[in-house]
Amino acid sequence: MKINFREFSNDNITITYDPCVCQQSDTCAKQLSNVFRNSVIPWIDIDGAPPEKINSQVKKCPSGALKFSFKNKVA
Ligand code: SF4
Repeated sequence: MKINFREFSNDNITITYDPCVCQQSDTCAKQLSNVFRNSVIPWIDIDGAPPEKINSQVKKCPSGALKFSFKNKVA
């Protein structure tokens, strides 16, 4: 499935995804499948887990393709 650069936001957080640097390792989908869903559009369900849990998973992205920020504070 081809995915373009995307930004996902709700009232509290923003996640961005850059497919140009993604290593397609599926680390995110394997470890937090409620949020990072590789067979569903949109592939990121920003409300699929608590923000802190999403932030923790984003930090494990080996390529830096995923970025996380809180809207009212620095992550
Ligand atoms: S963890 Fe990062 S590099 Fe791996 S599939 Fe997810 S976005 Fe891509």
